[in-house]
Amino acid sequence: MADTNELGPLPSSHITLLPSSGMGHLTPFLRLAGLLASCNVKVTFITREPPVSLAESQILCHFFSAFPQISQEKLHLLPLDNLSAGSEDDPFYCHIEVIRQSSQLLSSLLRSLSPPPSAIVTDMSLTAAVVPITEALKIPNFIFFTSSATMLILFVSFHILAGSMDGVKIPSLEATPRSWIPPPLLQDKNNLLKTYIIENGKAMTKSDGILVNTLDSIEQSSLLALNGGKVIKGLPSVTAIGLLPPCCFEDNQPLTWLDDQPAGSVVYVSFGSRTAISREQLRELGNGLVGCGYKFLWVVKDKKVDREDGEELVDVIGDELMESVKEKGVAVKHWVNQESILKHPAVGGFLSHCGWNSVTEAMWHGVRVLAWPQHGDQKINANLVTSIGLGIWEKSWGWGGEQIVMREQIAEKVRQMMGNEFLRSQAMCIREEARNRIELHRSSKKGLTELIKMWKKE
Ligand code: UDP
Repeated sequence: MADTNELGPLPSSHITLLPSSGMGHLTPFLRLAGLLASCNVKVTFITREPPVSLAESQILCHFFSAFPQISQEKLHLLPLDNLSAGSEDDPFYCHIEVIRQSSQLLSSLLRSLSPPPSAIVTDMSLTAAVVPITEALKIPNFIFFTSSATMLILFVSFHILAGSMDGVKIPSLEATPRSWIPPPLLQDKNNLLKTYIIENGKAMTKSDGILVNTLDSIEQSSLLALNGGKVIKGLPSVTAIGLLPPCCFEDNQPLTWLDDQPAGSVVYVSFGSRTAISREQLRELGNGLVGCGYKFLWVVKDKKVDREDGEELVDVIGDELMESVKEKGVAVKHWVNQESILKHPAVGGFLSHCGWNSVTEAMWHGVRVLAWPQHGDQKINANLVTSIGLGIWEKSWGWGGEQIVMREQIAEKVRQMMGNEFLRSQAMCIREEARNRIELHRSSKKGLTELIKMWKKE
């Protein structure tokens, strides 16, 4: 790494963070920023204006009030002139495309920072757009990959495999069945996800390092393969920086109903921040929960983007289910603080889509998981959940929307998860491991501590 860059001598450490669209990308960036600030690193956090969801606006507001020492810089997005993809593309990928097209504005923003940044941490989805800019400015650019290290293998090697996905053979991930690959990647026609993975996967080799919110003990073989040149040649060092602990801006939400429930008795049900479940599937899910024999806290979501979601809960699930739910649990149709819920002693299991943040939060709090992957990287994450003994996954349910999973099947699987003592104790072991790792990294100057040390040029 250079000691000076185009903008002048490097300060001992000033890290600029550039997240991308969606809570699954923003939350780990905010946790990383909080952690860096608590280690006396000067942090500038770049936000995109406007954000795609209300949840993002709200969390940013909490974050900047909790960390007044972190500077906010706004990247004002350009109007999108030419979206080459079809209208069926995910609104979050469309938003990433807008950020990508607006990244030309980044150069002047980075030049205006004082002191000049010693490094930038960029979201994986912006790698191809931002690396040429930071190269020109000679600012070291570290990519934050916000999914698992195993998914990183697919991400960086997909451009080599793209033409031959028929017999999917991912280096070091040979056992990956075709059905686990995100379906848009298997389509012949172009789509934003495909372009985004091909371009950014290729550009990763030009970055100065890759950060993954994972535990080296849990994804050891993937990390060894990535760092041992077995996946693609020329990849910079991949560092497991996790698990990133929850941060003070994620302030506690009052959870009065949960407070009245016995320890470990409640199933928490959520499919993350950007997955819409069909009405028919919601009805089956709700009835499955009512019939499972356990109390539950269910976050209902039937629109991808919260801004589009104006309907009342009763309009979505209907009067009858609404009444049955009242006797057995709680259903809400608004943003909840998942972190406070997972840490609540009453929560004993998590029916989850297996977005990577949800998986890491379940690990951090030692909550077992019933995996129901819906799209994207979630089957790869679900496989990890089962392989480490954190949870179970009923593979025959397929991707979200492929079929309607019936209430009896859902109730049965919830009972299997909640009744499984091995999973409960294994989840607690993973929780301990995650917390011990932080101490270990701190004392041995590994993981994030090593990076901070390098950025501070100690
Ligand atoms: N989340 C939350 N409340 C909600 C829904 C989601 O706090 O009502 C948080 C969740 O804790 C996680 C993030 O939003 O940190 C979602 O990321 P994940 O990778 O799990 O899934 P995605 O939303 O990207 O599919």
